[in-house]
Amino acid sequence: MHHHTDVITCRNFVDGDWRDAGGDPIDRHNPATGDLAAVAPRSPSRDVDAAVRSAVRAFATWRKTLPAERARHLHRLAEVCATRVDELAVSITREQGKPRNEARGEVTKFVSALHYYAEEAERVSGRTIPNDTAGFLSIVQKEPVGPVAGIVPWNYPIELTGWKLAGATAAGCTIVLKPSEYTPGSAQLLSECVAEAMPPGVVNIVYGDGETGQALAEHPDIAKIAFTGSMRTGQAIYRSVSGITGLSLELGGSCPMIVTDRADVDAAITGATRRSFRNAGQICIAINRIYVQDGVYDEFVAGLAKAADALTVADGLAEPDADVGAMTMSETYRRTLDHIADARAQGARVVAGGEPPQSDSPGLFLRPTVVADAPDEALVMHEETFGPLVGVARFTELGDAITRANGAPGGLAAYAYTTDTTETFTLAGDLDFGNVAVNNVDAGIINAPYGGRRESGFGSEHGPEGLENYLQLKHIRLRHNAQ
Ligand code: NAD
Repeated sequence: MHHHTDVITCRNFVDGDWRDAGGDPIDRHNPATGDLAAVAPRSPSRDVDAAVRSAVRAFATWRKTLPAERARHLHRLAEVCATRVDELAVSITREQGKPRNEARGEVTKFVSALHYYAEEAERVSGRTIPNDTAGFLSIVQKEPVGPVAGIVPWNYPIELTGWKLAGATAAGCTIVLKPSEYTPGSAQLLSECVAEAMPPGVVNIVYGDGETGQALAEHPDIAKIAFTGSMRTGQAIYRSVSGITGLSLELGGSCPMIVTDRADVDAAITGATRRSFRNAGQICIAINRIYVQDGVYDEFVAGLAKAADALTVADGLAEPDADVGAMTMSETYRRTLDHIADARAQGARVVAGGEPPQSDSPGLFLRPTVVADAPDEALVMHEETFGPLVGVARFTELGDAITRANGAPGGLAAYAYTTDTTETFTLAGDLDFGNVAVNNVDAGIINAPYGGRRESGFGSEHGPEGLENYLQLKHIRLRHNAQ
């Protein structure tokens, strides 16, 4: 049991036990207060190698462990984590910044994902194919690909780790996880849960920064890399994987929203407020830019500005139900301020926020910011900000709005509000994104595939598709001679 103020000491989790690793440790400070939150190793390649060897050894047994038995382990892991929801949530808030209630929601969703994949483990099946010669039968079976590397970012440290852990192990793969250097503490708590529920070596965790991640991605015994993170790192991994290694990339992007004259404007304002500013905008599917049709433009801008101004910004440990906590990284904090300055310089109007809240806190706090009349050239309209900033622009023809929505790099998620059926199907059909949400802003659910297009990467998580990612096919052709 960790107390709220304890600094979490992270140790690599290998073969079911904790180990010291070489390299200068990484200190992670609470972005709201500057207090030390966690200390983690910066694992050099020999420690990465030890974790991969553990995953390779465990794979020999786990791949043959019956699906029903794998399911029992995953349900058990979910139950153990469910007893530590508050502790896990506090660890997330302390190193990542999102308010405690929101962090609780993340952990609860992680627990559900474990249960979901426990059940999916038992639903994997192949097929038989008739042959054109008597006495033969073809069987197609699905087998786990092998030891997986799961490399994850800091914005949903437990949930994003969970999708990879659950999908891979449900499929019969073992995994080596590399948490973000910004959020190691929650992974340490997770390792304590894993130790109670999973056989040794099935789930391993190595700490470190990008160099550790690179050593893991390049390890020759890794059969598949499941990566979630930035476009830049995704591209680096794509170029550097050694040999023929499976790869899925869940990258960022710039997500649009379209609001037409036929929308329920209040619902659109509520949706935009939630999906632009939750987790301080640090979501891969956060709304970055909104195109609003002439007839409702002024009403929408005024409503969104008012809703943004009403959000509370505070230290999410002290105020668990704050709307927006501290941002995680000073780099993204500065980028958000740069994007605001750039929008101003390009003629956009700041109608809400625009600066840090009035306080003497040293934390990375920023008021939720709305810039209206943003030109397409403004950075906020085509680059992922990853902060509490959204740009709004006007359109007249729906076709023009769709072209502009599709025009920025990345194709992860797009949102639209309209009550018109023809507009609904036009938007759903023509938005070139892996996820399109109409009249709601919760684009991802655990039992439907979730993935990006174009620069946002390839491969899906969630749903049975998320498990297929970790399976490979085998065709067995049998001559049995029965006529
Ligand atoms: P990041 O790419 O900087 O880091 C992600 C992970 O990769 C970290 O664990 C990091 O240590 C590791 N890493 C860094 N360099 C590496 C290298 N050369 N080789 C191997 N691993 C390396 O991303 P971040 O700042 O932690 O996260 C924010 C980004 O993640 C945003 O762009 C966001 O859109 C994206 N994201 C995408 C999704 C999605 O589902 N598509 C979900 C969440 C976040």
